[in-house]
Amino acid sequence: MIADHDEDLCWTAVLARDRAFDGRFVTGVLTTGIYCRPSCSARHPRRENVRFFAGGAEARVAGLRPCKRCLPDDVSRDEKAVLAAIETIKASEEVPALAGLAADAGYSVSHFQRLFSRMTGLSPAAYSRALRLERAAEALSAGDSVTGAIYEAGYSAPSRFYEASERLGMAPSAWANGGKGVTIRWAVVETYLGPMLVAATDKGVCRLSFNEGADDLAARFPAAELAEGGEGFSALLGEVIRAVEAPDQPHVVPLDVRGTAFQEAVWRELRRIPAGETRSYADIAAAVGSPKAVRACGSANGANNVAVLIPCHRVVRSDGSLGGYAYGLDIKRKLLAREGG
Ligand SMILES: [Zn+2]
Repeated sequence: MIADHDEDLCWTAVLARDRAFDGRFVTGVLTTGIYCRPSCSARHPRRENVRFFAGGAEARVAGLRPCKRCLPDDVSRDEKAVLAAIETIKASEEVPALAGLAADAGYSVSHFQRLFSRMTGLSPAAYSRALRLERAAEALSAGDSVTGAIYEAGYSAPSRFYEASERLGMAPSAWANGGKGVTIRWAVVETYLGPMLVAATDKGVCRLSFNEGADDLAARFPAAELAEGGEGFSALLGEVIRAVEAPDQPHVVPLDVRGTAFQEAVWRELRRIPAGETRSYADIAAAVGSPKAVRACGSANGANNVAVLIPCHRVVRSDGSLGGYAYGLDIKRKLLAREGG
């Protein structure tokens, strides 16, 4: 059974159909005699008819049967299938075909694709590309030549690497040299959170921070060409200001960020937290499919270059206290208050 003090958390997860809790407990429904994953899409039972169990085995001992809709006993099979696919991807020279990965797992292509994306935050193809970029970036920062690093990382030809890196923003030469050959436009504007620095390449926002100026930017991108303002930039800046001042309104701001495959999966997950809600590091770790990587999630959060637009402020401690924030708790508190969280 689940401890009494955790039952509220379980029920909240059930009401939210939160997939991050699949595999952590099952929901038994006494009136129908079945048990479900927390995320089961069936209509919610009444709270008083629900009992929580640590797993399927305990629920069966209590006389319940697994739900045919959400197949609660398949969670570990799902996890094993995705982990096996990740091993295959890591060991492959080329990006493995999705059909082959799905067949190995014994799932249909569309089901496997959904499963994989849910657990890693990336499609199998995107995961494979990100993994290669990550390896190449590691080799580049270790001082290897660009071409050597590219072949080392498993690309068949340099042009393929340039194609793949396009998707994330900076070209690999800039990567190796602190932004060499890249023009970064920037401005500092006054907001309800104090002076806000916004900087962008021609692909999107690469830095959003508070109480920083041109010197901080130069230290972060030492070889880039920095230019204050600019025509195309002011439209983007206006959109960024709207996104910061009215977080509950829809907005589209392109980002130019790069990180390891894991960091990018965490950042993607942060962007899925709706305004007005918060998550713990443990929630994020579970959502990216690495429930034990709570500390690594914290570091990925800290490595976020684009505050607010990648809403790392929506991560709080599991006890509900605020936790830390790169620009001070006062700003974090104001952000959350404006979002109604
Ligand atoms: Zn179910």
